[in-house]
Amino acid sequence: MIHCKIQPSQLETKLLKPRILTLALALAAGAAPASAHAAAAFDVAVTVDDLTVHGALPRGMSWTGIGRSHIATLKAHRVPQAWGFVNGKRIVEQPESAAVLDDWRRAGHPLGNHTYSHLGLSGAPSLQAWIDDATAGEAAIAARMANADWRVLRFPFLDGGADPARHDGAAAWLKSRGYRIADVSLSFDDWAYGDTYARCMDKGDQAAIAAMKAGYLQRVDAIIAATRALSQRVYGRMIPQVLLTHMGPWGAATLPDVLARLDAAGARYATLEQVQADAAYREPSPRAGNGMLMERRAQDAGIGLAGLPLAPPVGKLDALCRQE
Ligand SMILES: [Zn+2]
Repeated sequence: MIHCKIQPSQLETKLLKPRILTLALALAAGAAPASAHAAAAFDVAVTVDDLTVHGALPRGMSWTGIGRSHIATLKAHRVPQAWGFVNGKRIVEQPESAAVLDDWRRAGHPLGNHTYSHLGLSGAPSLQAWIDDATAGEAAIAARMANADWRVLRFPFLDGGADPARHDGAAAWLKSRGYRIADVSLSFDDWAYGDTYARCMDKGDQAAIAAMKAGYLQRVDAIIAATRALSQRVYGRMIPQVLLTHMGPWGAATLPDVLARLDAAGARYATLEQVQADAAYREPSPRAGNGMLMERRAQDAGIGLAGLPLAPPVGKLDALCRQE
């Protein structure tokens, strides 16, 4: 199974008193505190991993339909650009899913590399094996990006190499090949829900699906609040965010609500390039590209996150929608 695993505990944080936060931001912006939303606006670049196939496919759905649902949702929320990070092996395994890549390009969204087989850098048999897998992932992307720059890599599992030699070796190879790394700062762990959602869809258990969605959207709100507080702790401000989502049935079903929650929280959608121009994304790190950006920076700079409350857990999904 293919997941971009992120530890929810990494998003532990402390909430500021909302009135103080609102006032401080309004003063910082030199504006009257007319609306908390306007004062708390922040930029978000949306990115989608694991094209063309993430997780199990419920009966009656198609990968093409899931891709088009994503594209329609991005358009409805005026997301100007969403990088789609591709595992080239999926279109060999499921050739019909290749249409997702063509639809993505027709909608004006770029494609980047997520390695051929979703190979984690730390788990690869060797650095060279990982480089070979990343290289094999290029053909499906380059063929569809024409003259546009497609050399952007999202590490599978956000694994930029636990071992310094392997990290530095991969970083040197990526640089020599002209790649940029697409960091992540915001995730709602959508990957964790996919298999249970497919099972519940196949079973037709609408009550279980409704409960999953309600729990997920509560987590979305809590993680947005946690992200603000974490960013304040680490940077003294809300930095522009890069959101990680996945090209799966759960993502397609929930992205409209997720973006509505982000809209309500003050999100303004931006391109990855715009977000990565922020100083927070240009800070050098001995572990560049590894894990989540803000947590990595906290570790690099020795900023303690102790005492911050945890983001709510995903919950026990494994028991849902099993045969009775
Ligand atoms: Zn992935």
